[in-house]
Amino acid sequence: MNPNATITDEQFEAYLKQIRELVEGPFEEIQKEVEVTNVFPQEFYDLAIKNDLYRFYLPAEYGGWNLNELEILRVQEEFSRGPGGMRMHLHHAADMNWRILDDYGKPELKAKYMDKFQDKTIYCNFAITEQTGGTGADLHTTALKNEKGNYVLNGEKWLISHTDCSDFTYVIAVTDPESDKDSRLSAFFVPNDAPGFEIVEMPHMMGCRGAGHAGLKFNNVELEPIYLLGEEGQGMEVAIHSLSVSRVHIAMSNLGMAQRMLEITLKRANDRITFGKPIASRQMIKEKIARMQAHIHTLRCAIYDFARDYDIDPYNEYVTEKAAICKLVSIETVKEVSDEMLEIFGGDGYFEDSPYGPTERLYRDCRAMWLEEGAPNVQKITIARECQKFGGVVKYNF
Ligand SMILES: Cc1cc2nc3c(=O)[nH]c(=O)nc-3n(C[C@H](O)[C@H](O)[C@H](O)COP(=O)(O)OP(=O)(O)OC[C@H]3O[C@@H](n4cnc5c(N)ncnc54)[C@H](O)[C@@H]3O)c2cc1C
Repeated sequence: MNPNATITDEQFEAYLKQIRELVEGPFEEIQKEVEVTNVFPQEFYDLAIKNDLYRFYLPAEYGGWNLNELEILRVQEEFSRGPGGMRMHLHHAADMNWRILDDYGKPELKAKYMDKFQDKTIYCNFAITEQTGGTGADLHTTALKNEKGNYVLNGEKWLISHTDCSDFTYVIAVTDPESDKDSRLSAFFVPNDAPGFEIVEMPHMMGCRGAGHAGLKFNNVELEPIYLLGEEGQGMEVAIHSLSVSRVHIAMSNLGMAQRMLEITLKRANDRITFGKPIASRQMIKEKIARMQAHIHTLRCAIYDFARDYDIDPYNEYVTEKAAICKLVSIETVKEVSDEMLEIFGGDGYFEDSPYGPTERLYRDCRAMWLEEGAPNVQKITIARECQKFGGVVKYNF
């Protein structure tokens, strides 16, 4: 463990095991109902609180265990083996949910709320995407100052996760409509019970059921300046820095899922006999297994490298590039691994309730990863920009 952690190596290893058993046991059972209702029952939140899933990632001053980024990511790998919607909720809890307020909130708000994340007394979602524009500076929601010096929020957001269990929303909005630069954007900490804040229902998703997706509408939502995060004009920086870390959490989610897919595929390949032999003994199946493992190992190395750098300096110059690389490699990994899993399982893999594991659901759940925290093209644009900036050089802290 890192020397500041408030738990021992043994306690940490036991915790990883506890989380794996929780997500592959009780959470899988609960998910059967969630697949139909698309809503997490209270039992899920209660179990998450009881198993410290809103606490483990926090600094000790906010009730957490002072884990470093690599240790946090290792817990994330374990809970990503379970149902995708729960993974999405817990991944966000461990990340942007509390980090944005901690990094950019005004001291008065931090004093009021930072110790309320540990048992989910508060939960905060994040809203940048709009139906009417492209992700990035191309936003149309405005937060313009009125005569009292307060910001007035007007506009819409779309595809927003965790809207059914959040108390606040981090909103990126335009404060300087005349500018065409990134500095036209600012970030706000918006109470979801503010007058004029509305949640708009969306259809159910392909996978990751239960993660509470909806649209948001802001109709003259008035915010005192205390709700501005960072400085006016810093909205893009808030989004990019927060999304960078979160992209690595997405990459770790993909790793957790891919690792489980590989493990259940190996069992199935050993058990399935055709023409008198386990299919695992066939060269063409071995080739698939080798490719699955090569992808998974490469991804693990990229994530561990990011975390090592981040733990030395969270603002190091390669954070953005390495985070985008992790996310891009992770999509390619989970794409390859989920395809090979389905092929090796044969027809049984296409059905629910396989005795080996939820192949059909894993396949659907992992498809959300293409879009969460930015589509593959966005990762490629980011990598190319940073790569060109540094002349292709990347530093490693071995
Ligand atoms: C499960 C899920 C959860 C989500 N949760 C949230 C959330 O909590 N908060 C939030 O704010 N958003 C959320 N989103 C939205 C998500 O971030 C976006 O879907 C994603 O960034 C892609 O944006 P878009 O859907 O507007 O696609 P578009 O912008 O319409 O893009 C469509 C395609 O065109 C490509 N493209 C677009 N512009 C360019 C360009 N300039 N150059 C090259 N290619 C381009 C994209 O890469 C993509 O492949 C979520 C989405 C999903 C599916």
